[in-house]
Amino acid sequence: METILQTNQLVRRFGGLVAVNRVDFSLEKGEVRGLIGPNGSGKTTLINIITGVYEPTSGNVTFNNENISGLPPNQIARKGVLRTFQVPRLFGSMSVIENMLITRFANFSLGYRKHYDEAVAQADELLTTANLMHLRDEKAKTLSGGQKALVQFMRAFMVNNLQVLLLDEPFAGVNVIVKETMMDMIIRKAAEGITFLVVSHEMTSIRRLCPRVTVLAEGAVITEGSMDQIVANEQVISAYLGG
Ligand code: ADP
Ligand code: MG
Repeated sequence: METILQTNQLVRRFGGLVAVNRVDFSLEKGEVRGLIGPNGSGKTTLINIITGVYEPTSGNVTFNNENISGLPPNQIARKGVLRTFQVPRLFGSMSVIENMLITRFANFSLGYRKHYDEAVAQADELLTTANLMHLRDEKAKTLSGGQKALVQFMRAFMVNNLQVLLLDEPFAGVNVIVKETMMDMIIRKAAEGITFLVVSHEMTSIRRLCPRVTVLAEGAVITEGSMDQIVANEQVISAYLGG
């Protein structure tokens, strides 16, 4: 197996709080890893550090063996490490199709016109897969929360060189059909070699998607393993029960 992304003794403090505590964590190319842990255990902070939103207090993140800590988010995105947000961030006054296209043209300084038709075709294909074609020309701000989450998710695949996609609670507030669409897409894209980190409270979804799951508690990795191993782990049980 080939490690694509790795954190090395990663630490992030906010004042006196240690949000991420000496995390050594690595993703293999093409895997779908689960990341679970109680509220406030540092899951989003870990994604924020990997994607350059926060700098680590100490430690580093390597992507394809290159240290990417300290790079700004746009440069990390350009390398193919993308994320979604717990609360979807779309351009509300732009249409759904424009929100899809901006991901492509924000990440590449290619000639716009030359690649425009190809990008539109790709966006339409993704919107069709997601059953969103009827909303293609609607302003994003008119969409429901679940539809916004789905657009945010689908537009990540507009990035040509997508390598790693970090999904922060992708299934929160979405209906079962949308969830199925997302899960199918994750499985399909992982088979093509894209690597996923899925943060979720939905244990049934994590069990279905993720052969391997990492558990965070109070900023630290307490265990990694299959879902069956994890639910039987006493440290995990006590972390969730606050024991
Ligand atoms: P999770 O996503 O697992 O629920 P977070 O990573 O959001 O947890 O938060 C981990 C801890 O770090 C929490 O105690 C949270 O309040 C704190 N935290 C996160 N971001 C900030 C910030 N920007 N400033 C201060 N504290 C923060
Ligand atoms: Mg979070």
